[in-house]
Amino acid sequence: MTDSSGIDPELVERARDRFTQAFGAEPSPKIAVAPGRVNLIGEHTDYNDGFVLPMAIGRSIVLVFRPRGDRALRGCSVAYDETKELDLDALAPPGGSDWLSYVAGVAWAFATEGLVVPGLDVVVDGDVPLGAGLSSSAALEMATARALADAAALEWDPVRMARLGQKAENQYVGMNCGIMDQFASAVSRAGHALLLDCRSLDTRPVPLPEEAAVVVMDTGARRSLAGSAYNDRRAACERVVAHLRGLDPGVRALRDVTLELLEDAKDDLDPTDLMRARHVVPENARPVHMADALQVGRLEQAGRLMNDSHSSLRDLYEVSCEELDLITDIARGQASCFGARMTGAGFGGCAVALVKAAETGPFCDAVLSAYEEKIDLPAALYPCRPMAGARLLD
Ligand code: ADP
Ligand code: MG
Repeated sequence: MTDSSGIDPELVERARDRFTQAFGAEPSPKIAVAPGRVNLIGEHTDYNDGFVLPMAIGRSIVLVFRPRGDRALRGCSVAYDETKELDLDALAPPGGSDWLSYVAGVAWAFATEGLVVPGLDVVVDGDVPLGAGLSSSAALEMATARALADAAALEWDPVRMARLGQKAENQYVGMNCGIMDQFASAVSRAGHALLLDCRSLDTRPVPLPEEAAVVVMDTGARRSLAGSAYNDRRAACERVVAHLRGLDPGVRALRDVTLELLEDAKDDLDPTDLMRARHVVPENARPVHMADALQVGRLEQAGRLMNDSHSSLRDLYEVSCEELDLITDIARGQASCFGARMTGAGFGGCAVALVKAAETGPFCDAVLSAYEEKIDLPAALYPCRPMAGARLLD
């Protein structure tokens, strides 16, 4: 169970004990935590310079740390049950993609901006499921950044730290991710989702009404987005932009395209490319509309937007799959559900539902049993309220 801060006290104890075992009890270490996230709406809009609406969830990376007098980075992972060491003065991209590389990558990113970090002993633990699309990687980066900022006596600047986390993942780990995950994990405010403009990086905290809960529904399907399908979608968006720029030089990304402009040009576009753009253009308006709906407590309207987003991803962008369609259908069949959609890149992973908070338990039971009747995969449901971004525990 998590307390109101969203951190499981037993998890914190376990991580602290592991630290004592690995590195000794004195002087007393500190603890940085950072949450995973789920994207409520705005899918495949990030690389089109558009809007997303992620929310930090009550599952986090817990990083116990203590500065050292030398330049060693010694890390111990509870999940992988191993301890390893790196020399901070010898870090260079591409580093690697094992768990310690996420920590080292952030240290490297700090160094690229002249931020001097001391050597460190760290224990990494957490309860964000790995590789499920809830961004355990960004949580690990932001917990690391929080720890390094403290160890280097830097003022905590969540926006700068989110950028450094992305730089670490892109360049040091070699994963080409957008900026949303690090923003959600660093900048989020408790009780609020985070509307993010992926072009300007402006954010707006959006209160989630008390009577609503978000349920993450992991289908158990792990057909990770075939790199080729993702690249195809991006290439389609770029071709449409290239064509429309000929008609309107102000078009830099699909973010700048109106449905009118798109429909005017439809005869000159490849039919599949047109279909992809017909998802992105309206989808890009949905995060702002959903933020406005949540702000004034219009949960039915927010739910309808989620349903629309799912249909569009399924029929126009063609990135859903049988398991995601099934679990969102079952969710919507519950009277307590306002709306549901796939979340993340697609072809497996998680869906997300907006649900009456008081009925979350029965909702989860009903969805899980109906899903498991049809699909033989290890599904899991996580009820969530919005949590605060990366911070130090007292
Ligand atoms: P996602 O971000 O969707 O969870 P990724 O593949 O991007 O999946 O990141 C998962 C990686 O992050 C893991 O392979 C591991 O290297 C690192 N990681 C995440 N959580 C932990 C953890 N609790 N302990 C150690 N490493 C972790
Ligand atoms: Mg990740």
